[in-house]
Amino acid sequence: MAIDSQLSSPLGPPACEKDAKALQFIEDMTKSVDEVQRRVLEEILSQNADTEYLGKFQLNGATDRDTFKSKVPVVTYEDLQPEIQRIANGDLSPILSAHPISEFLTSSGTSAGERKLMPTIHEEMDRRQKLYSLLMPVMNLYVPGLDKGKGLYFLFVKAETKTPGGLVARPVLTSYYNSEQFKTRPYDPYNVYTSPNEAILCADSFQSMYTQMLCGLLMREEVLRVGAVFASGLLRAIRFLQLHWKQLAYDISTGTLNPKITDPSLRDCISKIVKPNPELSEFITEECSAENWEGIITRIWPNTKYLDVIVTGAMAQYIPTLEYYGGGLPLACTMYASSECYFGLNLKPMSKPSEVSYTCMPNMCYYEFLPHDPNAPALSRDSPPRLVDLADVEAGKQYELIITTYAGLCRYRVGDILQVTGFYNSTPQFRFIRRKNVLLSIDSDKTDEAELQKAIENASVFLREFNTSVVEYTSYADAKSIPGHYVIYWELLVKDPENSPSHEVLNQCCLAMEESMNSVYRQGRVADNSIGPLEIRVVKNGTFEELMDYAISRGASINQYKAPRCVNFTPIMELLDSRVVSVHFSPAAPHWNPERRRC
Ligand code: AMP
Repeated sequence: MAIDSQLSSPLGPPACEKDAKALQFIEDMTKSVDEVQRRVLEEILSQNADTEYLGKFQLNGATDRDTFKSKVPVVTYEDLQPEIQRIANGDLSPILSAHPISEFLTSSGTSAGERKLMPTIHEEMDRRQKLYSLLMPVMNLYVPGLDKGKGLYFLFVKAETKTPGGLVARPVLTSYYNSEQFKTRPYDPYNVYTSPNEAILCADSFQSMYTQMLCGLLMREEVLRVGAVFASGLLRAIRFLQLHWKQLAYDISTGTLNPKITDPSLRDCISKIVKPNPELSEFITEECSAENWEGIITRIWPNTKYLDVIVTGAMAQYIPTLEYYGGGLPLACTMYASSECYFGLNLKPMSKPSEVSYTCMPNMCYYEFLPHDPNAPALSRDSPPRLVDLADVEAGKQYELIITTYAGLCRYRVGDILQVTGFYNSTPQFRFIRRKNVLLSIDSDKTDEAELQKAIENASVFLREFNTSVVEYTSYADAKSIPGHYVIYWELLVKDPENSPSHEVLNQCCLAMEESMNSVYRQGRVADNSIGPLEIRVVKNGTFEELMDYAISRGASINQYKAPRCVNFTPIMELLDSRVVSVHFSPAAPHWNPERRRC
């Protein structure tokens, strides 16, 4: 398509007219951030004025920030649980939102071991769609020619459930891929996927991955970008190729389809795509049977310009492995979003992972920021903290994100800590620092210190009959194995060495720990295969004392020293690993089923 020479944007020359409009939208929003935020709050408060929740705070029709901030409290998910439970149970009255709750989005954050349920309304889908529609126009500024080929994206849906009142509960991406907006999206040459909808929407993770990989291999020369939502998902696809390339090569050589693909509409769709191609099959066999998989992505998909995966936050642990398989291809982090609300995008998607900043789009929700000082006392209801508006955050400072959404969350603590890196026009840009209270994470699982402690206690029950106890422990998210897995270091006190716990008993302890983990962890282990079996490494007696000596030698205070409950500093890992006396793995998968435990 000839590019109109009139098209321009301060962000760069747009690739086409559609992109010019998207970039103009970004300009408009980011230039008038405070005004947009004022309007968003006004819209939310007028729309939801008659809800039961807002009614409690007697805003009396006020929609201004001062009244809102002085009367409505900052809350956590646990504070809203009674309201959310009533909606889940089928109460159709306007509790949080004047618009009917269309479904619940199940967050990867958990409460009492179960995924949090985030209420959403129909119109939110359009807001999410709008944010997605901005991503390619920005990418096209940096990577030309993306309309000349396809994107190999490994996208998956997950299990859905119904609440007692009959509302669907599913992850936000499962909701999005099942939406008409996604399924019947108009053809856009800049956004063509190798995976057909049938493959993305197949709920069986093996069949979905197999057919997406098969299509990616068949169209290898056309692939210009390879991605998944999170880094862990792309690595899982590489692992899948390692395990299944022989069958994939066979299908390609013969033009047949693996009999394990049993979903009728998927089988029908893919059978039309596979044609015998012995030459391609030979190429795949040659590449995949080689010992060395370094740069495999660039070898199999030679025209790939970048890997589109989130590698910020907990996903940063996968950067070295992705660089290895990706042969140094740039890693692009495009957006920052959650089940509660989508927030923003990266206006420089080709920047290095350590320099990625997200620009919060002011039309998505009303944002507030709680200054985050790790040494400050906990939030108290008696002296409410001063929350800062989006336009007023200061460069360099860290904040906890608090949002008010169209779907009815008011002054809700998302749990993310962000740091202001700068501004685009008058809109701040944020580096994702971390999620509060997360100790271990491999995929979308998030395990906190209390959950780990509880899991250790439950597993220790198996040690009692051997007069043995866990005296110290720490943990580590091992991202080098694919899938990654939790490693727990145990120092044991064995009171009766004649009757110490056997290898099998310690294996059982691994499983007991997994059974205690939250449902997102167990789903990763059982349904998604995104987390490997938990490992316990028993270390020699005295190891944790050595750890303390090491910390003190580096300046820790003896009085205040506590064993870290999670480690990732290389010298400490080396010390721990050099003291390991035995290694144990979970012998089976823990229990998981899509149904929620009733609360
Ligand atoms: P969920 O609760 O499953 O919707 O997950 C949303 C959470 O994932 C966010 O609150 C963040 O903690 C994390 N997240 C989402 N996008 C990013 C990103 N681009 N970089 C780092 N963490 C992210």
